[in-house]
Formats: sequence, structure tokens, C-alpha cells
Amino acid sequence: MNGSMLDWPLTLDRILVHAERWHPDQAVVGAAPDGTMARRTYAECADRARRLSAALVAHGIEPGDRVATLGWNTLPHFEAWYAIMGIGAVCHTLNLRMDAAQLAWIARDAGDRLLLVDPALLPVAEAMRALCPAIEGIIVLGAGTDALIAAHDPARWGGFGEDQPAGLCYTSGTTGDPKGVLYTHRSNFLHTLAIIQPDLFGIGAADSVLPIVPMFHANAWGIAFAAPAVGAKLVLPGARLDGASVHRLIAGEGVTMSAAVPTVWQGLLDHLDRVGGGLAPLRRVVIGGSACPPSMQRRLTDHYGIEVRHAWGMTELSPLGTVAAPSAASAALSPEEGGRLLQSQGRPPLGVDLKVVSDDPDAGPDTPGRLFARGYATVGRYFGRDTPATDAEGWFETGDVAVIDRHGFLHITDRDKDVVKSGGEWISSQGLEAIAAEHPAVAHCAVIAADCDRWGERPLLVVQLREGEDCSDASLLEPFDGTVPRWWVPDGIVRVDAMPLGATGKIDKRALRDAYRDHLRAS
Ligand code: AMP
Repeated sequence: MNGSMLDWPLTLDRILVHAERWHPDQAVVGAAPDGTMARRTYAECADRARRLSAALVAHGIEPGDRVATLGWNTLPHFEAWYAIMGIGAVCHTLNLRMDAAQLAWIARDAGDRLLLVDPALLPVAEAMRALCPAIEGIIVLGAGTDALIAAHDPARWGGFGEDQPAGLCYTSGTTGDPKGVLYTHRSNFLHTLAIIQPDLFGIGAADSVLPIVPMFHANAWGIAFAAPAVGAKLVLPGARLDGASVHRLIAGEGVTMSAAVPTVWQGLLDHLDRVGGGLAPLRRVVIGGSACPPSMQRRLTDHYGIEVRHAWGMTELSPLGTVAAPSAASAALSPEEGGRLLQSQGRPPLGVDLKVVSDDPDAGPDTPGRLFARGYATVGRYFGRDTPATDAEGWFETGDVAVIDRHGFLHITDRDKDVVKSGGEWISSQGLEAIAAEHPAVAHCAVIAADCDRWGERPLLVVQLREGEDCSDASLLEPFDGTVPRWWVPDGIVRVDAMPLGATGKIDKRALRDAYRDHLRAS
């Protein structure tokens, strides 16, 4: 027997319709290519998105068809998302840091029919289309979509089931070919309800929310759904994500909450070091995508009064897996112990389940092991693949190495492939990075496994110093003194002018390994 409640599919069009009905005058602002701010309301965005939907339908786009976007976080991109998803088509967010050949491979794999692109990215879009003739047309976000919006009456949204696909996002492909994760309306809708909760991102109608994390990086971690869902002001930063631009946006648009990877926050902190000033009215930031060094967390909290929420997740989890937020348990601990919990990756919300499996049957609970996840917003099967992405019990192996402590907080110690395996023992590269980042002269750092004849691998510290700073190797190694066992201390240090960044703005450890794998042998 089924229950007898209304049949009300959890489809994403309802999110913008809700904002249009209950928060019609709330602002959605976006940085335009010329640096000015474009301003609209949720009511205007919803009307425009429906008209763009009609243009897509007129082109012949049908439910389930893939329509790609290649763009920064902008107003036209936001409207395009809802225009595509509202008619049951799939919004495939392409990663603009990839080159034309990589993009064409992904667009072919996805079977994209149309491509909506930022004006500044038109050259790469055209080079990509030359390699992917199945793409029927390119529409420029802004001028192109404005013309279509002006020429069409609003389309009707919805009328399809919540298990229909809504979005497609490819993993960055650090191992093997990129793989597509096909989100459903239901999985993204429920993910939205999860992240707005107080212990997660904690977003409300009085907030002004700045998603710096790109819309192509796992749906801007869900924020372009969450802000309209609660009627918060949405501030879309466009292409300029340097410290000065982010600082200006925070003050100018009254930003109270924001989310980005650590390298972005480092850029903002460096900028503040140079020019002074504060971060008001910013209250809370979500930092994830790679480990947030405790030193960064302390600077934001102690100097600027910002509440840092350290989050862990991945494209395959839609992306949220865990968030570190205060609890009765953390408050009851000593400040030091409680602080360690808040520096960890935190706990999962309802709907995410985690387990750590050790290959060593004698391993204690504090021994890092392979991390598995499952839940309503976890990938079941990659796009176009026949086999499940999970094991027989529905657990997805994340590729991360972690410990879950007795309070239920997750501590990621490494990405599987980044662990330094020294003489059969594991050394946590992320643990060492957190320590190296304590040195005041260090702007960015990474620890990689360098090949070593005697021990197999040894840790090598790669650092980018702050502008104008210089210091000896001995000084850079000082923070390790007494903090970790002697055999964990990096065997060498490489200084770089600029860290290589991957497609989602994280430090590209694979590039560093390729460049410096033989460094300890050579020296
Ligand atoms: P992506 O799918 O590109 O977002 O990458 C997901 C991967 O980023 C995860 O599997 C982790 O290896 C890493 N990651 C994300 N958040 C964190 C975090 N807070 N700490 C450490 N690693 C993280």
C-alpha cells in the first residue's frame, strides 16, 4: 500500500518558482564582463529563464537532451541553468579551465546538443565545436540569450518526474578519463534542503551569499539552488576571483556568507595583508575542495571574526559529504581538543553515510583507511557506463584515506594516490601540509611523494613563499620540530614562484609529482 499524500515531484524548477512567488524582489546580482554589476530580482530571473526555455524548446530541445554551458558564475549563466532544467533537459556544466580538446572529448561523451558560452570564452568554444560537430549551435550568454529572451514568450516548466536527470558534471579526471555524474532533480533538491541547515552552510533569507566556487564545480556546491530556495540575495562574482575583487564584492554587496577552495581565501588574506581593512559584513565561509590549513582557519577567525565551516565532498556526492560545525560534544571539550574537531572535515548530514575500511585486520580505530560513502545524492553509476560505481552494498569508494574519530568527526589524511609510502609506513601529506602552512612566510604548500631508493618514497615539501619573503630551509622545517615523528619530516624542499593549479582551483599535485618525483634522487 502506498501513502496518500500529494504527488509533488521534487524538481528544481520549483526552487526558482518559489523564489519568484515568495521573494520576488530579492536581488540577484552578477559581475558583468566590463566589471560593472548587473542587477535583477528573482521574479525577473524566473521570467527571463522561462522565455529562454521557450527558445530551447523552439530549437527542438527535449527532456533528457544535454545542453552544455561554459561560463563563470554570472547572471546569464544562472538563468540558463533554470531555463535548461525547467523543461527537463540536462544542464551540462563544462569546466572552463580545460582546453578545447579536453572539452570536445567530454562534450562527445555527454552527447551535448547545444553550447551556451560566456563571450570571453567564445574562441575556446569554437575550437571545441570544430572537434565536436554534433554540437548544433553556440549561444553567447548575455547578448545571445538576451536576444532569445526578447523574442519568446515564457514556456511552462515542470510536469516531469523527480528522478529525471537535471545536471551533468564531469570529475576532473586526475586518474583516467573524466567521468560524468548525472544528478537527478530529486538528488539536487534534497541536497539543497540539506545544505541550508544551520549546521551545514546555514543560509537564510537575510543572507547575501557569494558562491566563489564555480557553477561548473559540482553545481557551485549547491549554492545556486540554496540561495533562491531560502530567498537569500545571490551575488555572482564573474571571472575576477582575485583577493581585491572578492574584497570589493564583499563590502559592496553586503556579503554575509561565501564558499570557495582554500587557494581563493589565501588570495584574499594576502590582499588584506597588503592593503589592510576588514571583511565586514562577512560572517561565515565554507572552505573545502581541498584541506583547509588550520593556520588559515585561525587567521580568518581570530583576525577577522569569521566563522569557518570546513567541508569535505566530491562531485560524486553532489558534492557535500561532511561539514565541521560546533556541537555539544565539541563545546564540552578543552578549547584545543574542540578546536581540532572544528579543523577536521566534520560530520555528515542526514542522508550521507560514511565508513572507513582498513586493509589491515589488526588496525585500531585511529588507523587511516579507505573512505566509502553512500546516500540519496551519491553517484550510482557514471554517465554512459553499464556497471555500478558502487560495490554490491551500494557503497561508493571515494579514493580518500581517512579516520572517523570517536565523536564521529571525519579526518581526511590523504587522497589515496597522494599518501607518502615510506618504508611500508604511510605518511599523511595533508598532515604535513597543515604543519608547513604554519610558517608565516609560506603562501601555499604541498607535500608530494618523491621516489627514494632506500624507503620507496619520501615526503618532499613544495612551497610558494609570500611575496617579498625569503627564508632558509631550516626555518621552513622548524614547524615540524616535535610536532611529528622525525621520519615524517620532509627530506627536501622545492621553492616555486607559483603553484600549478588544477581545473577546479586546487593545487595540482599530479603536476608537482611529474615535475619533482626524482628530486630527492637527483640531489
Ligand atoms: P572534486 O570532485 O573535484 O570536488 O574533488 C573531490 C576530492 O577533493 C575529494 O575526494 C578529496 O580528495 C578532496 N577534498 C574535498 N574537500 C576536501 C577537504 N575539506 N579536505 C581534504 N580533501 C578534500
